[in-house]
Amino acid sequence: MTNNRQIIARSAAKSANIARFYTGVACSRGHLSPRYTASGNCCECARAASSANYVKRKRQEYGAPYQHTVTVPTRAVADEIDALAARRMVEHRASVPDDPYRAARALLQVPGVSLDVIRQMGYELPPEVLPL
Ligand SMILES: [Zn+2]
Repeated sequence: MTNNRQIIARSAAKSANIARFYTGVACSRGHLSPRYTASGNCCECARAASSANYVKRKRQEYGAPYQHTVTVPTRAVADEIDALAARRMVEHRASVPDDPYRAARALLQVPGVSLDVIRQMGYELPPEVLPL
């Protein structure tokens, strides 16, 4: 969403085909927010209503009290997650055999890159693409 807070009348926004306009006047709930040109509705009210509907829907779906919250990990937990990811990467690398043609094979996937180009770049071509 654009954060344009330039004051513009709805009629002007309409003729300029701009999706939102801003009057600088608070909505009935006190939001100093842009409004939708099409409906005149306050964007912030719409956002809040949509979010409330989402929570309501999820509550119906799951039955149990649904909390629309995001858990932000603490620094220590984030570091632990990073360390785990790094360890998994190392383990993965160790489990994949070294491929001397890896770069050439990757380049072969790029459209328009010819065997000659790959050779000129100094990479050895994998046997499956070499002419018989
Ligand atoms: Zn509002």
